[in-house]
Amino acid sequence: MKLEILLAFGFSLFVDSKPLSNIGGRKFNKLLLISFDGFRWNYDQDVDTPNLDKLVQEGVKAKYITPPMITMTSPSHFTTITGRWIEDHGVVHNMMFNSTTLLKLSHKATLKRSEWWDNGALPLWITAQNQGLKTASYFYPGGGVSYAGQSVNRSLVETFGHADDNETEWREKIDTVMGWYTKDDFDFVTLYYGEPDNVGHRVGPETPQRKKIIEQIDRTIGYLTESIQKNNLTDHLNVIITSDHGMTTIKKSPEVEEIKLSNYINFKNLSHFELLDYGGFGMLRPRKGKEQEVFDALKHAHPNLTVYKKEDIPEHFHIAKNSRIQDLVLIGDLGFNLNSRYIFYVNKGDHSFSNQEMDMKVIFRAFGPDFKKNVLAEPFDSVSIYPLMCKLLGVKPAPNNGSLSDTEVMLVNDIGGNAGRMQMSISLFATTILILAVI
Ligand SMILES: [Zn+2]
Repeated sequence: MKLEILLAFGFSLFVDSKPLSNIGGRKFNKLLLISFDGFRWNYDQDVDTPNLDKLVQEGVKAKYITPPMITMTSPSHFTTITGRWIEDHGVVHNMMFNSTTLLKLSHKATLKRSEWWDNGALPLWITAQNQGLKTASYFYPGGGVSYAGQSVNRSLVETFGHADDNETEWREKIDTVMGWYTKDDFDFVTLYYGEPDNVGHRVGPETPQRKKIIEQIDRTIGYLTESIQKNNLTDHLNVIITSDHGMTTIKKSPEVEEIKLSNYINFKNLSHFELLDYGGFGMLRPRKGKEQEVFDALKHAHPNLTVYKKEDIPEHFHIAKNSRIQDLVLIGDLGFNLNSRYIFYVNKGDHSFSNQEMDMKVIFRAFGPDFKKNVLAEPFDSVSIYPLMCKLLGVKPAPNNGSLSDTEVMLVNDIGGNAGRMQMSISLFATTILILAVI
């Protein structure tokens, strides 16, 4: 009788455990990070988005998250994937530049230039690979270069002229990524979409076209959740959906007096190098000996323009320590583009304004086996996505500026625990057998 009870006890411990993942041999689940460029935090509030709404019930929503101070595509995406502030990772602008040689390269031209991205901060792909994981990047900014000589295991880089809004292609990307998990056993994939940023720039965020692209994104998320089920990944794949910055309507004359800096300074005589005409964040390196003159000319020039000397940039911007930040940093109030010599600016919407502006905040959704359901989380800084991803993947984080305390409320308690429970059950079962043998 005693023996039977012990045997039953031991066996029940064994069968009670969840099975080990049959995909790969790791005890941690896989992770997919999706970024929809320029998805403002409240874009789902004036459009019917049944699939995004469903994710709220089946996972976690943060009210919004705050990108780093320079709310541009490359700086912000790189903060997410490194967990570092901009001054620590060094990708301070979408454009690659050199204020001595006067080189300037467009965002797309930087995507394969390691010298722009590889400044000492290791992105998660590389750190995870160094710990035995397989990682991939599908169009995610920074995924197409190498870091300390190491490149991402598999990487696709967006080409010039790539159409951002092709729904069929959006689904094909999901099919491809699903294959990377199921056939090639990748652990971590980053997937990037160029919308709704493109539409937001072209026609502005408060337009029917922007609402239409959000509906398209919502259908794509529906396709994603179906694909996860079809590929038997529901219990094995965590998904984080977020973005890099929001979008705001650009203020134009005659409603406002637009900022045109040549009204206040003579560029030819005073400026050695400038990065302007790119939304609300700009930098200027005055000619030698002209630093104070330029600063004095600009500091009260326009009521919606703030100018900082590099040494006076507030610490909480987390940008000043980097050598790529120029002598003067110019910041336009929300909606004020920083025009240099002419106003040739045609975008109806833009970003790169202060991350404290609500229009610059972005979405955050997450679901999967390690996330609780039906959680509405408080806002946090996007720099904290990194330690969350490390926790989910079981990766020892590189030094970073994020905090797990911002996100751990979202998580179930036993991440990586399935295999741990299994091992314990096996050892208990063995102990039971041993006891039986002794008896
Ligand atoms: Zn962007």
